[in-house]
Amino acid sequence: MDSTGIQQDTAQKVAIAKLNAVLGPKGMLTTVEDCARYASDQSGLVGTPPVAVLRPASTEEISAVLAICNRYGLGVVPQGGRTGLSGGASCPAGVVVVSTERLTGIIEIDEEAMTLTAWAGTPLETVQNAAREVGLEYCVDIGARGSATIGGTIATNAGGIRVLQRGMTRENVLGLEAVLADGSIVSRLGKTVKDNSGFDLKHMFIGSEGVLGFVTQAVLKLHRHVPGTATALFALPDHAAALRCLNVARETFGSRIVAFEGMWPDYWDFVCHATTLATSPLEDRYGFYVLIEVDSETGRAEEELEELFAELFERDIALDGVLAKSVAEAQTLWKLREAVGEVDDDFGHHINFDIGVSPSALGAFCDAADKKLAALEEAGATLKVGHIGDGNVHLLVAHDGSKAAEHRIEAEIYALLQIYNGAVTAEHGIGRIKAPWIGYSRSPEELAMMRALKAQLDPRGILNPGALFSEG
Ligand SMILES: Cc1cc2nc3c(=O)[nH]c(=O)nc-3n(C[C@H](O)[C@H](O)[C@H](O)COP(=O)(O)OP(=O)(O)OC[C@H]3O[C@@H](n4cnc5c(N)ncnc54)[C@H](O)[C@@H]3O)c2cc1C
Repeated sequence: MDSTGIQQDTAQKVAIAKLNAVLGPKGMLTTVEDCARYASDQSGLVGTPPVAVLRPASTEEISAVLAICNRYGLGVVPQGGRTGLSGGASCPAGVVVVSTERLTGIIEIDEEAMTLTAWAGTPLETVQNAAREVGLEYCVDIGARGSATIGGTIATNAGGIRVLQRGMTRENVLGLEAVLADGSIVSRLGKTVKDNSGFDLKHMFIGSEGVLGFVTQAVLKLHRHVPGTATALFALPDHAAALRCLNVARETFGSRIVAFEGMWPDYWDFVCHATTLATSPLEDRYGFYVLIEVDSETGRAEEELEELFAELFERDIALDGVLAKSVAEAQTLWKLREAVGEVDDDFGHHINFDIGVSPSALGAFCDAADKKLAALEEAGATLKVGHIGDGNVHLLVAHDGSKAAEHRIEAEIYALLQIYNGAVTAEHGIGRIKAPWIGYSRSPEELAMMRALKAQLDPRGILNPGALFSEG
């Protein structure tokens, strides 16, 4: 029975009819073929086609839609670009999808306040380009920028390649509007930098993976665009040298380090040698590779990187290196790092760990993980690549595709992670895939508080059931 006292399947039918009345044919998809496209995100977790795909085009329509779903107990999976890597947008059976694909566009750019207000369904790249057109920058940047949406990046508190310089999405959102499960609209779209008038509620929705509310609009923080960037690849003996390299680079560049990305030899050999996903610009193979991008107001970025390389070479920190001399060369270097988004077909069944530990402990954690995995029958090859300046490694572990192997490997890695006081997800989110493991990162008291918040804001548990908390 639902809250209206009618049988569940009857309730669903009544709800669908009411949703249809609100959204009309343009705003709702119900055929099996149409719905099948919305079943899964890019995590590999195969979802079930939703009962219907709802495509509201305004905050008011989302409010009306959620109020109906809440009344009839219909589970809702919020979806943006479906580029998520944790199964948060993959559907369990019997839910409807609420997609932001008709909730797109830039609402305003305020050059003086350095803000951009956008609808949740706007692709990240559209926002980046619009900001650049007026000489400003939105600094959240991830490989999936073409499809990932502002709402999705907020809901997952996306990280990416510029966290070192500009922080996670959380640090780049000034205001936000969200709709709660019962349809009430919580809107704070101001551009106020300083506001201590009570709780900063936007942070409750950022990183909440669609379980507390549906994000509809956001005011994003922009920075001045610094056109002079330079990119280099350094080959190093090991991860410890990469940390020394970062420290030396900080002495010269400070907060002008835009990105500092690391690649372990297992990953390098796979994308450059075992496959043709990327091309190595180096003659030899090394113990570690770092991609560094810096910016400069003075137009000396390239020269400064050359000087940095000379110093690193002198101090035996770097063994080889390549400096990009053009935008095309910089893109070729970035391809080495971003090829991780294309390994799936060649690497076969694998677990994609998104580990966060203290940057200083990352090397030791990876060494310990390698040792553990080498002794584990269920574990195959590994690939390690990540935002090492942030202590975030994407560790891919191949296995035979069985649930048993997957579980064994996960249990070993997360148990090791607890020793390092790390996070089971640094940036992709818990979603459905990591929901059983959240307790390895969060204490029972923290989890109880999260559940209390969820129960208060979504007492019927309609928002993204099964995400974040296993039982919805
Ligand atoms: C090639 C590639 C590279 C990537 N690189 C990075 C990276 O460097 N850093 C990183 O952090 N992530 C990365 N990702 C993961 C992914 O792009 C991010 O998680 C992104 O933020 C998801 O955005 P989306 O619009 O696709 O959201 P979806 O996948 O549609 O949804 C993700 C989650 O957010 C919820 N959600 C979506 N929209 C809303 C909304 N409006 N309101 C409430 N909840 C909502 C969903 O229910 C789900 O739980 C990468 C993915 C790929 C495929």
